[in-house]
Amino acid sequence: MIILKNVNKYYETGGERVHAVRNLSVTFPDTGLAFILGPSGSGKSTLLNLLGGLDLPSEGEIWIEDKEISTFTSKERTNYLNSYLGFVFQEYNILKDLSLKENIVLPFEIQGYSRKKINEKFEQILNDVELTGLEKRKVNQLSGGQKQRVAIARALASGSNLILADEPTGNLDEENSENIFDILKNLAHMNNCCVIVVTHNLELATKADKVITLRSGRIIEE
Ligand code: ADP
Ligand code: MG
Repeated sequence: MIILKNVNKYYETGGERVHAVRNLSVTFPDTGLAFILGPSGSGKSTLLNLLGGLDLPSEGEIWIEDKEISTFTSKERTNYLNSYLGFVFQEYNILKDLSLKENIVLPFEIQGYSRKKINEKFEQILNDVELTGLEKRKVNQLSGGQKQRVAIARALASGSNLILADEPTGNLDEENSENIFDILKNLAHMNNCCVIVVTHNLELATKADKVITLRSGRIIEE
């Protein structure tokens, strides 16, 4: 379970102080798909970065399975980033000159898995994101929707407990967007993981197990 308690985040830039996340308390379950909705500037990406340990709260606590994120040792932080969680970015976060397989297995190589284990895990992930048969392709030979599925596969290889996605369907048409959300939802339930997605797409919010809506850094609906 991920628990946020009275989390505040301030940015200081050029003497100006932005209060991006305001006294936020929320719980995310270990399994399921959660959506974070809200207009531009409402603090969605800030919240996702805090959950991802990319940034620390100015005040408040973030608990990941009985451990508060700011008390992580550098080893715990590395484990959290390299093997607990995976990030899916809108810009795909994938390397265009590498094949689909090379892109996806990169995190496994960083984690030092054996070739055999890498191949096994790769087959499973490919199946999870519905890309079986395309393993030989270069990433620039894939459609937008397929690229986004490669990005999800890469995130899964990085960590399969918590998947964080920031507007993963921002560049996709409606049909591809729906497909991505179906895949994310299936992943959450089949792999027993928590998938947290920032999105503008209100219509697809019906697919989520939990929805929170932010406005000016506050939860206005849960
Ligand atoms: P969203 O993802 O909902 O569009 P953000 O979390 O990116 O919103 O931004 C929330 C607020 O924090 C905005 O007012 C934004 O301008 C500000 N902000 C975000 N990142 C930074 C930063 N690195 N430095 C200063 N202000 C920031
Ligand atoms: Mg954002």
